[in-house]
Amino acid sequence: MAARILTDDRGLARGVQYFDRKTGAEREVLARVVVVGASCVDSTRLLLNSKSERFPSGIGNGSDVIGRYLCEQIRINVKGWLPVLYDTPTRNDRGIGGEHIYLPRFNHRPGRTRDYLRGFGMQFWNTGSNADGPAPGAHGLPGFGASLKREIKRRHPAWFEVHPFGEALPYAHNRITVDESRTDRYGVPLARIDYSIGDNERKMAEHMNDFVEELVHEAGGELVDYRRGELDKPGSAIHEHGTCRMGDDPKRSALNRFNQMHEVKNVFVVDGSAFPNASEKNPTLTILALSWRATDYLADRLRAGDL
Ligand SMILES: Cc1cc2nc3c(=O)[nH]c(=O)nc-3n(C[C@H](O)[C@H](O)[C@H](O)COP(=O)(O)OP(=O)(O)OC[C@H]3O[C@@H](n4cnc5c(N)ncnc54)[C@H](O)[C@@H]3O)c2cc1C
Repeated sequence: MAARILTDDRGLARGVQYFDRKTGAEREVLARVVVVGASCVDSTRLLLNSKSERFPSGIGNGSDVIGRYLCEQIRINVKGWLPVLYDTPTRNDRGIGGEHIYLPRFNHRPGRTRDYLRGFGMQFWNTGSNADGPAPGAHGLPGFGASLKREIKRRHPAWFEVHPFGEALPYAHNRITVDESRTDRYGVPLARIDYSIGDNERKMAEHMNDFVEELVHEAGGELVDYRRGELDKPGSAIHEHGTCRMGDDPKRSALNRFNQMHEVKNVFVVDGSAFPNASEKNPTLTILALSWRATDYLADRLRAGDL
């Protein structure tokens, strides 16, 4: 487990301090370039724990942006039945995950108005392709024994789940820090997360509810366990971004457009922490694209003898 990036007296990275997970032994590996890709939260923890005289608040963090601007998308979780699909044939859906249905963001289209910034897309899970079998909606059905089984089978193709994912704006106070008083088994400080949503996200969530209610109503659906206004817990979207953001201005960003640290040119950070904002989309393909661009640039710089 990598614990810290080590620096030399020129302020460049010289390698990584890590702990052997089997023996617990502390080791160092020396490197010409360090590429960090431990995912948003863990990369941030690693960078903030990489303190030295030159970098007292974490490597490359003279701007104090590392750890700040955490953007985790907001989400609601809506489910129910589409009676129009009762008694339709049960398909063999084993192996198919429901999240393959995606409704892209639409609120920016002409004729749409909104009282908040940015937007949301929607994922449909367990909808028409329920990989979990008939279980999700079955618990609330009346009956017992054979009659309950018949009812479950009749309704199985009719279950839907709608999950709008919305962009959360980057706020400086939404922040990952490291907590010196709480450490892991190697003595390395753990991450602490402070996160809350603002008015923009609350207004967007209202619109999510309005839209889902309209959609389900138009489709003749029935909502199950629906609680308007109830957002999923922070962290549920599992799409974290923003805590080591890229930008042209070294005072307001930690990385340049090639994921290279402004202050430490032989450190690159290639995960969601590099995003300046979250968008409402699934992040992984963008993480991959940016990593690809960063490593092409890194190879060029190495060939040019700049690193
Ligand atoms: C259940 C689930 C479903 C998801 N579904 C989607 C989806 O449908 N679409 C989508 O785009 N995204 C999805 N995501 C998000 C997606 O998984 C992440 O965006 C993606 O994995 C990020 O890639 P990464 O390389 O930055 O980090 P990761 O894939 O998390 O890889 C980081 C690696 O670093 C290692 N690591 C961490 N800390 C250290 C350390 N200190 N030392 C050494 N190694 C370390 C970890 O063990 C891990 O192997 C989902 C996430 C989850 C959890």
